[in-house]
This record gives sequence, C-alpha cells and structure tokens, in this order.
Amino acid sequence: MNNTEYKGVFVFAEQRDRKVQKVAIELIGKGKELAKELQTTVTAVLLGTDMEDEAKRLCYCGADNVIYVNDEMLDVYMTEPYVYALNQIVIDKKPEIMLFGATAIGRDLAPRVSARVHTGLTADCTGLTIEPDSDEPEKLNLMMTRPAFGGNIMATIACPNHRPQMATVRPGVMQAAKYSEVNPVNVEEYKINIPKECKNVEILEVTKIIQQRMNIEDAKILVSGGRGMHGSENYAVLEELADLLGGTISASRAAVDAGWVPKDRQVGQTGKTVRPNLYIACGISGAIQHLAGMEESEFIIAINKDETAPIFDVADVGIVGDIFKVVPLLIEELKKEKV
Ligand code: FAD
Repeated sequence: MNNTEYKGVFVFAEQRDRKVQKVAIELIGKGKELAKELQTTVTAVLLGTDMEDEAKRLCYCGADNVIYVNDEMLDVYMTEPYVYALNQIVIDKKPEIMLFGATAIGRDLAPRVSARVHTGLTADCTGLTIEPDSDEPEKLNLMMTRPAFGGNIMATIACPNHRPQMATVRPGVMQAAKYSEVNPVNVEEYKINIPKECKNVEILEVTKIIQQRMNIEDAKILVSGGRGMHGSENYAVLEELADLLGGTISASRAAVDAGWVPKDRQVGQTGKTVRPNLYIACGISGAIQHLAGMEESEFIIAINKDETAPIFDVADVGIVGDIFKVVPLLIEELKKEKV
C-alpha cells in the first residue's frame, strides 16, 4: 500500500437525536494536535439529516472541514447504511487517520469499516501520539495506547502497513478544542446513493430510559463511593453531599457489582472515564482499573481509613478516617456555609 496517498485526520462526528455528541468534539480536540504534527487538517464526518447547524458547529469546535451526508436513511443510527456511507467516504477521501468515540455506535461501526477497507483498528484507546521520528518522515505512524491484560499494562500499538490508521477513543479521555465562532465554516455536502437493500432493519419505535440523575461524564463534581460504603443504604449520605455541592454520585466497580449503584455510575476501565473539577473518593482503594477512569480529574479528595490505600497517591487532599464520621462532618460544614 502506498501510505503517502492518505492524508488528513478524520473524526466520525457521532450524532444522536440530530445532536453531535460530546465525544466527537473531544476527538476534534485531539485530532487538531495530531494534525498539527502531521501538518495536515482535521475533517469531521457527519451523517444524518437536517443537521446543517450542527455541521457549522463542528467548524466552530475546531474542525477545518466537515463532510456532511444529508440522507433520511442516516437519521437514526443503523449499522448497514452507516457502514456503507462511511466506507464510501474513506475509499474516496483516503484519510491517514480516522477516529471514532468508543461508544455503542462507534464500537459497532469502526470495526466494520476497518474490515471493509482492510486496515487495522485499535479499540478503546486512552492515548494517541505521532511517533517521534521515522526514516520516512512522510509516513509517520500514529501510536495508539490502550490498557491491556486487565489494565495491568498499557500497550502502544501502531498500524504501519495499512491506511487509514483507525482507533476508537473512550469518551471523556481527550480534551475538547475551544469553541470559536471566528473559525471559518467549510462544509461539503457529500452525496451518496445508499441502496435501499442496504437497510435490512426497520426501527419502529425508540424508547428512551429517563435519567433521573446527571450523567457522570458531564458532572463537574462527583462524589464516588466504593466497597467501603458497606451497602446501598449508606449512599444516602453521599447523595446528600453531592446535592450540597451541586454534583452527583458515582461508584467503583466493587459497589456496582454488589448491586448498590447502577452500572451507568461506574467509573473506571470497564465503566466511564470522567474528568470533573472535583472528585471525592469515599471508601475506594484506588485500584489501577479505577484510577484509569478518574485520575485526570482536576482536584481529587480521597477519604479512606487505610493510610496505605493507593488512592492517596493520586489525591490532592487525602483524609485518613472513617467515611461515616468524615462525610457527615463535611455535610455539617457545608450546611453552615449555605445558611
Ligand atoms: P476495595 O478495593 O475493596 O476498597 C475498599 C476501600 O474502602 C479500602 O481501601 C478500605 O480501606 C476502605 N474502607 C472500608 N471501610 C471504610 C470506612 N468505613 N471508611 C473509610 N474507608 C473505608 N474497578 C473500578 O472501580 N472500575 C472499573 O471500571 C474496573 N474495571 C475492571 C476491569 C478489570 C478487567 C478488572 C480485572 C478489574 C476492574 N475493576 C474496576 C476492579 C478493581 O480491580 C477493584 O477491584 C475495584 O476498583 C475495587 O473497588 P473498591 O476500591 O471500591 O473496593
């Protein structure tokens, strides 16, 4: 394969309900860094219908170009039409790098497209860099890092012989580029004739689960409980602390596996990656798989009765003590502040 024919960093701009998802904006942020090193541009690929404003927003969020396919068949995600459309775009535009969010949609779509275009895919990346140097500077590889062997090591993977280099990236890991309406708007309306036979499934109805709590990936403040909470009934005290701070609760896998907290609250390698301004870890030991999901938080407070708990290694403030004494005291103090 002649790798030098392939140019540009492409980002799949995942949309749901005709709204571009946050992960796509994060990927544009990362894509810009990669593109700068490769001296190329970032192109967002948007598939949907009636999404002209969102296409424009992608430019304001840092995309140099947007390829927008406006087609009824792409309104709601369905595997076959999406794979067909994206495959056509990759064959035609020949990107050097193609990034997807490691969401349910990205995880379904990316491997199918990579198989069709006969390239590799590194799933669930937490780090992306360009190799520092090479004998052939025009063929610099993307170094894709992801946890391996149960999160005990980080593996860095390259795809030197095939293009595009494809990766899925976990939501919340990369930093979104700054929004600016000064950015030029370059939207290409791209036409694809998606054959009717491509669509083997009819969506009759979409039933949404109503979230009563804030999504933990969007929360600025998280109060997180682990096995040290000793039971679901004890989460009420964490809920109270989270409410007072204007945040929400999250949990370690131990607490989720015990059935104390729903799975959508889980932080970590097999849960969600979060980057709040404040993360309060209560009765969480700080296993590597948990840290993988929260260590990029801006400020970390850990409360644990074991002073040797590894969570203290990443904490900005560590409190050695019993959660059931420390948390009520924090609540009391915060209530005084609010009066
Ligand atoms: P523990 O490790 O049991 O720690 C409980 C802590 O509470 C202890 O440090 C203890 O000192 C403290 N404590 C107890 N009582 C009190 C008290 N009254 N006051 C103060 N402190 C107290 N884990 C995740 O969290 N997220 C993941 O996504 C994840 N993915 C995984 C993927 C794989 C492939 C594997 C193998 C594991 C994964 N794990 C994950 C599990 C991880 O290895 C740990 O088992 C888990 O994080 C432990 O949760 P914990 O810290 O709540 O419990």
